[in-house]
Amino acid sequence: MLRWNLILAGTDELALDLVALEIGKFNGLKHVPHLKSIFNRGLGIGNPEDIEIIGMSLSDAKKITTKFKTPAGFMTGAISCITGNMVYKMYKKMPVLNPKICKKCGNCSQICPVNVIKFEKKHYPLFTVKGCISCLCCMEMCTYNAINTKYRGAMGLFDKT
Ligand code: SF4
Ligand code: SF4
Repeated sequence: MLRWNLILAGTDELALDLVALEIGKFNGLKHVPHLKSIFNRGLGIGNPEDIEIIGMSLSDAKKITTKFKTPAGFMTGAISCITGNMVYKMYKKMPVLNPKICKKCGNCSQICPVNVIKFEKKHYPLFTVKGCISCLCCMEMCTYNAINTKYRGAMGLFDKT
């Protein structure tokens, strides 16, 4: 288990995620699709020079933390490349609306970084599978807990994302 003994807090979710990943020696904009989408849509601070860090400096934080572990070795990398993507596609979690709880507020639609939730006033939000990057920001945003998840399953093998 990764234990850094650090507490991170911030006012911009994108900047906070990117800093956390940077501490783990990971480039969030390069390796995490939904963070890249959020950045491209201008929904958060992503340029390192625009992120103000208070308290411990980034370089000092990096000195006392361990790196995120990635698949090591050629075989692991090759197997992970072939099967990892298939497993990811089948087991990625997709949002599912619970219409009994949904209040038709539309907040989920506004937060979706790739605009795949269609919403019209007084109607339930419509979730489109195509293009969904499975970030589950919609689920986090729904204060009524009206969004559950389910595995994409075998159909995920045909997804491009
Ligand atoms: S945020 Fe929740 S309650 Fe509001 S429309 Fe979306 S699913 Fe429904
Ligand atoms: S998980 Fe929700 S917020 Fe994320 S891309 Fe899919 S529909 Fe949009």
